[in-house]
Amino acid sequence: MPELPEVEVTRRKLAPLLVGRRIAKVHTTRPSYFFLTPPARLELELPGARVTGLERIGKYLLAGLHDGRRLLLHLGMSGQLFAENASSVRLLSAAARASLAPDAQARFRPDAHTHLRLEFEDGGPELLFRDVRKFGKVRLLAKGESDPRLERLGVDALEATGAELFASTRKRRVALKSVLLAQDVIAGIGNIYADEALFLAKLRPRRAAGRLTLRECKTLVAAAQQVLLRSIETGGSSISDYVLPDGSDGAYQDERRVYARTGEPCLTCGTAIVRIVIAARSSHFCPQCQR
Ligand SMILES: [Zn+2]
Repeated sequence: MPELPEVEVTRRKLAPLLVGRRIAKVHTTRPSYFFLTPPARLELELPGARVTGLERIGKYLLAGLHDGRRLLLHLGMSGQLFAENASSVRLLSAAARASLAPDAQARFRPDAHTHLRLEFEDGGPELLFRDVRKFGKVRLLAKGESDPRLERLGVDALEATGAELFASTRKRRVALKSVLLAQDVIAGIGNIYADEALFLAKLRPRRAAGRLTLRECKTLVAAAQQVLLRSIETGGSSISDYVLPDGSDGAYQDERRVYARTGEPCLTCGTAIVRIVIAARSSHFCPQCQR
């Protein structure tokens, strides 16, 4: 599943392809839960709009339009956003290529899973949104309109501070790991990056969030940002629930210290990495290094 790093990598690659261009025509598939705005409305209301920016909020992408409207794009589990002329979908992220067959990667042609296709007035490369499992989302937001999905999000993980984490966890007895995954305090940290950040911060996933000191909160937020930025740098990864059909992975996978390393020696002290379940999700940690 694409997490913050994969979405940010996608944003950085797509922004130069979108910003400043005027939409000429919109192609969609039939109405489905993929479309929060009915496809017929997208086809009618998007042409003529010029894209002025592409921002990321948590795991959502928002293309700003010249008249204040915004196009919300969410990759869901298996969504892929890419330019028509991308020489390889690998350019985007491991997540983006995960559900394309290897032989389809060299020269992709729009298929039944390509739910949104934007043509531009300049006649240049189209933007394609493909999603085999259709857990992705598209919604056209009116000027000033928001989406409940965005309203629920806490501060973005890359912008969060330890003081904010400290303030919002007081009196919360829930496990630290649950707080990191909940998205309402800090947005964008998924299972892999939560485990890795907790290892770097030397904190156990089951620690009660409300018992953390300010100093521990600062260490943890810094660790989370270090892990996320490193993943962005390496092009992201897609290791959470995903098996890549061609056996390849995002480079970040090679840098995991605890995630999915159950029973393997800790890279710091040699102790076997332990797996426990918190809030129905796997957590991996070193019982020696993390307290
Ligand atoms: Zn260790």
